[in-house]
Amino acid sequence: MSEIFDTVIGLEVHAELLTDSKVFCTCSAKFGGDPNTHICPACTGQPGALPVINHRAVEFAVKAGLAFDCEINRYSRFDRKNYFYPDLPKAYQISQLDLPLCINGKVELSTGTVVRLNRIHLEEDAGKLTHDDYNGESLADYNRCSVPLIEIVTEPDIKSAEEAAEFVAKLGQYLKYLGVCDAKMQEGSIRADVNISLKRKGDEKLGERAEIKNLNSMKAITRAIKFEEERQAEIILSGGTVEQETRRFDDNQGRTKPMRNKENANDYRYFPEPDILAVTFTDEDIEKIRATIPALPKERKEKYINEYKISEKDAEVLTSEKYISDFFEDTVSIYPQYKNVANLFLTEIMRRVKETESEEIPFSPEDFAEVVKMADKNTVNRNDAKDIIRTMFEEGGKPMEIAKAKNYLVVEDNAAIADFVETMLDEKADLLEQYFAGKQNIFGFFMGQATKGLQGKATPRSIKEYLETAIEKRKK
Ligand SMILES: [Zn+2]
Repeated sequence: MSEIFDTVIGLEVHAELLTDSKVFCTCSAKFGGDPNTHICPACTGQPGALPVINHRAVEFAVKAGLAFDCEINRYSRFDRKNYFYPDLPKAYQISQLDLPLCINGKVELSTGTVVRLNRIHLEEDAGKLTHDDYNGESLADYNRCSVPLIEIVTEPDIKSAEEAAEFVAKLGQYLKYLGVCDAKMQEGSIRADVNISLKRKGDEKLGERAEIKNLNSMKAITRAIKFEEERQAEIILSGGTVEQETRRFDDNQGRTKPMRNKENANDYRYFPEPDILAVTFTDEDIEKIRATIPALPKERKEKYINEYKISEKDAEVLTSEKYISDFFEDTVSIYPQYKNVANLFLTEIMRRVKETESEEIPFSPEDFAEVVKMADKNTVNRNDAKDIIRTMFEEGGKPMEIAKAKNYLVVEDNAAIADFVETMLDEKADLLEQYFAGKQNIFGFFMGQATKGLQGKATPRSIKEYLETAIEKRKK
């Protein structure tokens, strides 16, 4: 960040898993709902209620681990993390301490930085407290209590706010590809805790770090880190020491504020969860899970660049989301003109899906392949092809029907071509003379005039053929 200091950042990212039910009971894990409607004795911590583990949540966590090159622990265990706060009525959270599901992964960033993952573990979310300052009361909604979370913990390998944001975006992208998290930060599906410290350039020793809790947007992550870089630099430069503490980011003021001194692991008095059996895997179990992982962005991007000869920038956009990449691949499997499909896709489809954010393309890859083909074969001209796509988005309908209804089909009208070209050459006899005298680019002018004048009546190819012959005939 500066000439004096290096920024050292480690992240703990919480991602809510997309299971139907909660991680230790059968209540719905769906976001929202009227307060305290997705609850039962187990997730509200009532005496005698026993947790039962959701195998799907375990499978999702392992999938994430495999996608990020983690080792999967063959023997994994749950622990109780004790803390008293009304968002968790059990007064402990079931989490994983020393035997998490996944360890030692990595994520590569576009800057070349490789962010090592220390672990991915499975745990339960806490409820949601709403503090009403006006009435001086706090309301508790336990719908989110026990919704499955994975916590992805990195080593302190991240060097800037931009890298941190890219890391979180990439996690979200991959988790969405895997179908294990919807990555909606605005609904709290992904939240990040940022551990940040500064160290003088050349120094080995890390400085004291601050932990900023619960950042729930890319903007908040970036702003909080930039604020902390300045705050800590100021303290160190004025001869002070940065305190190890937990802070929160105030979005309105754009600054971090102290929350409490950082707890150590032993403040939580972790101990093995006695009500849940250890999770064990055979190699076969793990291979079964691995087989359900779809081709991921990195692999797809390489294929688009190397096999489809698509530019890196375009390949990046086409693989940004799984549904986009799937649609593109389905289209080229029907009509393998990769570049032409990509061009129309990027200009006409991407813009619209971004506007609607609906993640739905309202027509099939077959229909889209047909439009690209129609444009390539000059059955319709390119601008009309774009209008057909617009119509398919806004009103629906099949490409050929739309082309017919809107009179877009190019009918080869040989008489019209002959008439137009001969008249043009008669009228522009002087230009033709210049062409014969060596001004090659005049051919392009003739082509342009004829294409414009014959729109809808002829393809550029037949116009060109006729034009070449007609000029040849007039040569003296
Ligand atoms: Zn429940």
